[in-house]
Amino acid sequence: MSLANSKPHDSGLKPQDSSLKTSPMSTIDLPILNGTSFRAKFETELLAAPVIRTLQINIGYVCNLACRHCHVESSPARIAPEDNMSEETARRIADWALTQSCLQNIDITGGSPEMNPNFRWMVEMFHEAGLHIMDRCNPTIIDFVDRKTGRSYEWVPEFLATNQVEVIASMPCYSEENVEKQRGKGSFNASVEGLLKLNAAGYGVDPNLRLNLVYNPVGAVLPPPQDDLQADYKRELKDRFGLVFNELWTITNMPIKRWRHELERTGELASYMSMLINAYNPHTIDDLMCRHQINIDPRGRLYDCDFNQALDMPTPHLHDRFIWELDVDDLTDRVIATDDHCYGCTAGAGSSCGGALA
Ligand code: SF4
Ligand code: SF4
Repeated sequence: MSLANSKPHDSGLKPQDSSLKTSPMSTIDLPILNGTSFRAKFETELLAAPVIRTLQINIGYVCNLACRHCHVESSPARIAPEDNMSEETARRIADWALTQSCLQNIDITGGSPEMNPNFRWMVEMFHEAGLHIMDRCNPTIIDFVDRKTGRSYEWVPEFLATNQVEVIASMPCYSEENVEKQRGKGSFNASVEGLLKLNAAGYGVDPNLRLNLVYNPVGAVLPPPQDDLQADYKRELKDRFGLVFNELWTITNMPIKRWRHELERTGELASYMSMLINAYNPHTIDDLMCRHQINIDPRGRLYDCDFNQALDMPTPHLHDRFIWELDVDDLTDRVIATDDHCYGCTAGAGSSCGGALA
């Protein structure tokens, strides 16, 4: 879309209100951004769409892995109660979501969502209510046994299949070397094993059980074209392991948290930001995920996306509001909190929870 010709309401953009600036400085804070900051670029605010159909729930930050690019800095150590959704909060959210007639999709993310003890009953409740559920699953969880608690996760494939959950499985590459660079030793074979168990439960085979894989680059580059890479993944994973899946979604590494620290360590932050800014693509704006969803943290507080949640950048005007204090209809056309990390979503073919945008 053309920003210059866009009507404020229809385009998702409206004149900026300086009082809405939510972060005291750029989320990136580099000299290179002078005059090219995401907010300065538009002199407009980004607005949510007139209808919101997706609730993205970050159920907790605990994970069996600690990947180098993880934007929520998940790890096995993130077990503090404030980092993981309690049963009381989960019940409030589930009860609230079931009263919101416009919601159609529940997108559960983490950490490793299956590690939260509330995951199973929430999924069953949403499934019974006829909602479409997505689980952002790290497939190594399926073979993981927690040595401290003895808890295992071999139940995951059958449970997800029974509740017709769409699985969005992270698989950063089809090469063992690249996966292990990001996720640690043994993570490639564990991922393949987990994905094969999902196949055995019908995922990627039964048309009602969709299995989509997520790729993100290992280095400081943009993802390659999604369709080309999908063809490579399908060929390699089928030929080598007999593994099948539906779609591959490419996601850009956001210049925040662990990935930003890595870029700082290697001296690549400025060049990475330059690359994102130079690759800005206005055709990504309509479908940015923040415009079509609401996102909540493990305590039930509202954000526009999981990246803003990681940066603790709440939705403007709604600081520290809990989702059950609001109505989804109050959140349509809302002003979205943006800053320079947003260039990660608008670069090249764009990037979202559902892969490339344009
Ligand atoms: S598997 Fe996902 S949530 Fe867990 S550390 Fe890796 S990127 Fe983060
Ligand atoms: S990071 Fe991306 S999804 Fe989040 S507010 Fe910015 S553009 Fe929207």
